[in-house]
Amino acid sequence: ALEMPAFIATKVSQYSCQRKTTLNNYNKKFTDAFEVMAENYEFKENEIFCLEFLRAASLLKSLPFSVTRMKDIQGLPCVGDQVRDIIEEIIEEGESSRVNEVLNDERYKAFKQFTSVFGVGVKTSEKWYRMGLRTVEEVKADKTLKLSKMQKAGLLYYEDLVSCVSKAEADAVSLIVKNTVCTFLPDALVTITGGFRRGKNIGHDIDFLITNPGPREDDELLHKVIDLWKKQGLLLYCDIIESTFVKEQLPSRKVDAMDHFQKCFAILKLYQPRVDNSTCNTSEQLEMAEVKDWKAIRVDLVITPFEQYPYALLGWTGSRQFGRDLRRYAAHERKMILDNHGLYDRRKRIFLKAGSEEEIFAHLGLDYVEPWERNA
Ligand code: ATP
Ligand code: MN
Ligand code: MN
Repeated sequence: ALEMPAFIATKVSQYSCQRKTTLNNYNKKFTDAFEVMAENYEFKENEIFCLEFLRAASLLKSLPFSVTRMKDIQGLPCVGDQVRDIIEEIIEEGESSRVNEVLNDERYKAFKQFTSVFGVGVKTSEKWYRMGLRTVEEVKADKTLKLSKMQKAGLLYYEDLVSCVSKAEADAVSLIVKNTVCTFLPDALVTITGGFRRGKNIGHDIDFLITNPGPREDDELLHKVIDLWKKQGLLLYCDIIESTFVKEQLPSRKVDAMDHFQKCFAILKLYQPRVDNSTCNTSEQLEMAEVKDWKAIRVDLVITPFEQYPYALLGWTGSRQFGRDLRRYAAHERKMILDNHGLYDRRKRIFLKAGSEEEIFAHLGLDYVEPWERNA
């Protein structure tokens, strides 16, 4: 009898925007290994190798089966020699010696800790590493370091911020954001984006898009929201970035460009009274027992003009790799430039309007991919 091939490797696209990637990852063993390699190359500022491993991780996340033999990856895109070697090691030995080397590497371990602090990137990590620092504890103890306001907050709330945000916490913060925004703009649309929109049940922060469908524009909305939270004692940190959007300007062709929306990177105080014992439940007793009844939570708020909202939603929903591939696909396959503000057709020399994410995929000639299938 003829064998029906259930899976045709050569039909798998090199672009994650042409694949469906849910949170069911059958190849975690491999993708975790690739992500360690990618991160180590990021710390070494080797963007090419970093992307190679991120693309491979993303590809294996989209496979509907677990890779168990080298034959399983035959004909697949995004699998170069470096990647193949690690897959082979893991299949044969159960783990990769190259990955283990990285995991035990002093520099990798220090950078991993440093970059887990809000406001700390590769550049700062490099500086601290050269100074001989190795752990966050050592950084905290060093009183001579010149820290930015963001890094100070990152260290101050470190424990809360490294413990991930749960779905329940995201829902609680979502209510706060919606209530506050609606006291100033009752018709405003507040949407949770980022990992939570993709169906994840944990995250490192909570991302929100805010837009106003009505005729009323309010440039002061973000400032009003922030001021109210300050008054209510809910704001632990905030960095407001004003809009730098220029109409008619062509979208940036850089694959990892920041967008030009007015936004705010904040840390909110989320109260979560832990009344687990009847001996200690008044606020006075809580204070006396020094039981902290709140958690610091990282929140990103982005304000978008209504007509750019679908593009902003697509960009901020991510994943980062999915967004990168969408822009790469637009540029290389369609001669179009995509960013969080719009889509420019270089052949027709026009901006393509879209009222929904579906319309953006249609402009690009792509099948629609649901948010929960964008976990590339
Ligand atoms: P996590 O659960 O770790 O938060 P996430 O997917 O929500 O995962 P974020 O870093 O919050 O990751 O980013 C969400 C999306 O927004 C990503 O697609 C990212 O590319 C985009 N993004 C993040 N920061 C910016 C920024 N400053 N400008 C433009 N886009 C950004
Ligand atoms: Mn996020
Ligand atoms: Mn974010």
